[in-house]
Amino acid sequence: MKDNIIRWLGIDKKSPYVRDYFYAVNMRASIYMSLIVVVLEIWMIIRMTKTILELPPDVVKPFAYYFQKYYLNYLILLAAGSCMLIFAVRFVKGRKDNPVIGNVIKWIFSFVCIYFGEIISYNDYAKGEQILTFLTMELFVVCLLIWRPLISFLILSSSYLIFYFRIDMIPPPNSTEIGTTLATQINMFTMYLSTLLFSFANYTRTLSQARKDENLEQLNEHLSRISVEDELTGIHNMVYFRSEAEKMMNYVTTDKENIVFLFFDIENFKSYNEKYGFHEGNILLKKIAHLIEEAFEGSLVSRFSDDHFVVLTRFHDCQKKIQQLSHEIKCCQGEVHLELKCGAYKPDETEKDPSLACDRARFACNSIKKHYDCYYQLYDKSLEDRFHLKQYIVNHIDTAIANGYIKVFYQPVVSTENSQVCGLEALARWQDPNYGLLPPGAFIEILEEYRQIYKLDQCIIEQVCRDYQKAKEKQLPFVPVSLNFSRLDFELCDIVGFVSQMSEKYHVPHEFLDIEITESALTEQQNLLTNAVRKLRETGFKVWLDDFGSGYSSLNVLKDYQFDVLKIDMKFLSGFPDNAKTQPILTSIVNLTKQLAMVSLTEGVETQEQFEFLRSIGCSRAQGYLFSKPVPLEILREKIRSGELQILPEYLNI
Ligand code: C2E
Ligand code: CA
Ligand code: CA
Repeated sequence: MKDNIIRWLGIDKKSPYVRDYFYAVNMRASIYMSLIVVVLEIWMIIRMTKTILELPPDVVKPFAYYFQKYYLNYLILLAAGSCMLIFAVRFVKGRKDNPVIGNVIKWIFSFVCIYFGEIISYNDYAKGEQILTFLTMELFVVCLLIWRPLISFLILSSSYLIFYFRIDMIPPPNSTEIGTTLATQINMFTMYLSTLLFSFANYTRTLSQARKDENLEQLNEHLSRISVEDELTGIHNMVYFRSEAEKMMNYVTTDKENIVFLFFDIENFKSYNEKYGFHEGNILLKKIAHLIEEAFEGSLVSRFSDDHFVVLTRFHDCQKKIQQLSHEIKCCQGEVHLELKCGAYKPDETEKDPSLACDRARFACNSIKKHYDCYYQLYDKSLEDRFHLKQYIVNHIDTAIANGYIKVFYQPVVSTENSQVCGLEALARWQDPNYGLLPPGAFIEILEEYRQIYKLDQCIIEQVCRDYQKAKEKQLPFVPVSLNFSRLDFELCDIVGFVSQMSEKYHVPHEFLDIEITESALTEQQNLLTNAVRKLRETGFKVWLDDFGSGYSSLNVLKDYQFDVLKIDMKFLSGFPDNAKTQPILTSIVNLTKQLAMVSLTEGVETQEQFEFLRSIGCSRAQGYLFSKPVPLEILREKIRSGELQILPEYLNI
């Protein structure tokens, strides 16, 4: 009830928007009102002057008389009207004058209008004329301007009452008796009520319009905010980033040499979500977003997607900030190991496309994924070339196999006893029509990453078996071939079944196929691999341990698995003969293989001196460029025919 009365009287608290709305409406209305007053008063001054000038000299009173009686009033009204007019016009033109001054001027102006309305109409009434000036001024003040109902009520009531009591003290026109007539009283009361109601209606209409506008404005603001704001983190989204970045790239004044796009990725964020739940994950994302925003204050910062952020900033001090940020994010990681990765791209001056710049920064960022402790990478063209090659390899492995682009190169393994070839290692090559001859370093890792490696290994197995069959048919010599298997082959296909199947199909005796498994594949104790190694050996294939000594778990591997041949990694020979430790280490490894009933083979033999040493310590076999690089089978045959290589007599007739 109380609230209703307060609302009805219009003295409830208004929002700043509504207050501003009322103020603006009043300022606009003041322009018309004050303009009329100014024009009217100028006209009154002219008219009065003309009347005085036309009076016969004997009737003219001193100027002071006219000034006090007329001119002063006109001038005061003119001054108030002019002040109001100037202030209101300044407001409409967008000048931000203090609204308190505006309100004070409005009050003074209204008061002056009503006051002179009363004085003029009082004089008119006394002369037996209408009281129209008073009524007009009342209408002007309370109906053109918008007041709260209580104020309208006070203004109108007080001014009507004062006017009424004043004219009630003099006789009405054509009468000698003091006091207003009933007709005047009724007329005045009716006029009072009408103006009061009209001003109330005006107030209500303006208020509802202001509220409607306010709602629209709020909706608009909300819409424009969500269109540029990331819902989760509250920082800018990519719509905003792209449009602002594009502007910056196009401004002539931007120091384009010094701008850089940064792409951030929080590595292992998925594990954080898994461990602490999505809610906590979201809280952390928000925190990270604000850390990035703080670190790059004044720069353009947005959330790209998921746990990815982009920043457009100055290049010269960005690395220091990234390092600091990386440290701060580590402090939030809890029990999960989080790592900040950042890719950077410096666009050249002609570039105008922020999306492409973000892509490249992202690209640089992806290139250091899983590179422990490497948190920053600047984009360069070779990075992209590598990326394209990667895509190419993943997308073309099937066609490469179908079109016969995958070739087997063979590298001989010789016996240290007599330097005769006792084996061949099958090494894959990709003879590509676009990229030329690709070494395994260019595709093995990628195929493993995309879990496609088994396709290549199956292809090599089949080619080797086919080569054996052809040699047999043509009664050419052939030696056992060792095949490289990836750890993933055991997971992705039944590789043991496949190699058995191929050896059946091409009638290859099992002792002609050896399987090399690299040491690093065996570092995790896996039942799958243990069983596979056992099964291979049971089926008659020899299993070799490749790259022995390249990892950290060499001796454990020897304890857990049984191998036929131990292939000593070529890094042991790289320091030979300068590194004094190399020789005793190699000697111990070779002795170990003897104790474990394994055949020892050292790869990477490049010099006669190395070979002599290996022979002297009892290493059974050697492989390396000293004998031959990996080459196609025909070239190998050529080498055998020319006598450059000799093969063990037992393999001359298979
Ligand atoms: P790996 O099995 O250790 O093969 C030996 C690598 O050392 C070969 O490189 C060979 O060319 C190179 N090499 C041989 N002798 C010497 C030497 O005296 N000095 C030097 N500096 N290097 C020598 P390649 O052919 O580039 O193969 C690299 C790696 O690719 C192989 O290492 C193997 O892990 C993998 N790979 C090759 N072919 C296949 C395949 O068919 N399947 C799988 N899964 N992996 C393969
Ligand atoms: Ca190998
Ligand atoms: Ca090796």
